Amino acid sequence: MPIELTRLNGQAAPLEDAALQAFRGAFKGAVLTAADPAYEEVRKLWNAMVDRRPGLIARCTGTADVVQAVRFARQHQLLLTVRGGGHNIAGLAVADGALMVDMSLLRGVWVDPAAGTARAQAGCTLADVDRETQLHGLAAVLGFVSATGIAGLTVGGGFGYLSRRFGWTCDTLQSMEVVTAEGQVVRASAQENADLFWALRGGSGNFGIVTSFEYRLFPVGPEILGGAVAWRGADTAQVLEAWREFSASAPRELTTVAVLRIAPPAPWLPKEIHGQPIVAIFACYSGKPEEGEALLAPLRKLGQPVADIITRRPYTQMQSLLDATQPKGRRYYWKSHYLPAVTRQAAELAATHAAQLPSPFSAILLFQIGGALNELPAGHSPVGNRDAAYVLNIAASWEHAQDDAANVAWARTAFRAMQPCSTGGTYINFLTEEEGADRIAAAYGRANLSKLTELKQKWDPDNLLRHNKPVA
Ligand SMILES: Cc1cc2nc3c(=O)[nH]c(=O)nc-3n(C[C@H](O)[C@H](O)[C@H](O)COP(=O)(O)OP(=O)(O)OC[C@H]3O[C@@H](n4cnc5c(N)ncnc54)[C@H](O)[C@@H]3O)c2cc1C
Repeated sequence: MPIELTRLNGQAAPLEDAALQAFRGAFKGAVLTAADPAYEEVRKLWNAMVDRRPGLIARCTGTADVVQAVRFARQHQLLLTVRGGGHNIAGLAVADGALMVDMSLLRGVWVDPAAGTARAQAGCTLADVDRETQLHGLAAVLGFVSATGIAGLTVGGGFGYLSRRFGWTCDTLQSMEVVTAEGQVVRASAQENADLFWALRGGSGNFGIVTSFEYRLFPVGPEILGGAVAWRGADTAQVLEAWREFSASAPRELTTVAVLRIAPPAPWLPKEIHGQPIVAIFACYSGKPEEGEALLAPLRKLGQPVADIITRRPYTQMQSLLDATQPKGRRYYWKSHYLPAVTRQAAELAATHAAQLPSPFSAILLFQIGGALNELPAGHSPVGNRDAAYVLNIAASWEHAQDDAANVAWARTAFRAMQPCSTGGTYINFLTEEEGADRIAAAYGRANLSKLTELKQKWDPDNLLRHNKPVA
């Protein structure tokens, strides 16, 4: 029986067996259909709200497989999606009936300690890269949750504990190997295909399939000072008032994240707090630990913390401290703003909406990112938002479909209420499925979006790479 695949025109049409056999012959990795036992696991993404069934999954083993997959998609006009770490909130990596180009087996990392760079294949998670670079006391600028894919994170911008010092993840890129929408292998860097290099530093998956990233590395770790301090929810106003001033004057070596949520049953929190509202500040000081200890002392002495796990610890441990709060397979819905500062109004609104959480897994998070990224011009790369100092993420998370409406409504209400505190910008990687043209424009800014639209015409005029947040 020929399988039905979704074509670029949106229609489903059968694919002849002979065509599938020819593709399998040219492709080294496994090509999965719904009949294969591995299909279910690979199609499922981090967000269980996304439940789509690709027609074929091409499990790439190298760049040559990516080229074959692109050529096959072009030849048969197939809707194509690209899967990295599968963490995109909008589920961009999967579409019903599409050819999913699965990069997740490509996990090689090569560190050049003398040059201070690492090349990582596009299926790596953040943990894969940190593990190898930390052998040399070096780190790339990556995100806060270690199972996230480097690919989606980097092509959308990327921020984490080191962004205040070194900028967006994509600001630290040296080069990329890319399979273009024509199926050609090219290098993109400041010297070669500089326009493609520009577009892929924030313009997301619209311009080509990156097979490897070369990152600039920085001396960090292997030990840093970091962890978290938590207080009872009743202390939220006092803690946020102190934190907003504390963080505004903190040096760039220190990144803090405020988290407002219900205490999970985590071993670092006392049992009597489990299930109760808390406010926690996660902190990572990547300079000399003794300097960080002095710096963090006033925060740790604030009020009456219920837990304090700030200590000298491996950087890789810090990079996975939030992992348990974000398991694969729960239902998630996010709304997000960039903030120019945490004003008293923003802190009060965050506290008000955190007090109305409909789920024990949801949270309001405020990530401090201001620093190096503010120093480059707005058009340095499409990720833009060079006026952002904090990221607000209203992160709804719950378990059962019958609770979808209540959780989505909570996130939307908090998002609308906090709109006056926003720079007007937002993060392309945090946009949910229904967020369209106006939010994409807010993520890039008009000038960057207009340049991206022109470059889309050059690098993907047929719009093969369309299952993205579109720029044209
Ligand atoms: C729990 C969690 C924590 C997060 N924390 C952070 C954080 O700290 N900092 C941060 O900046 N972001 C963070 N994010 C957001 C994250 O950057 C995006 O979700 C990103 O899309 C994830 O990349 P992925 O490869 O896992 O995604 P996937 O879902 O696999 O891919 C998403 C999209 O990225 C594009 N893409 C993937 N691979 C390639 C490729 N090889 N070439 C070209 N395009 C490609 C495609 O458009 C694809 O559809 C987090 C997300 C989650 C779920």
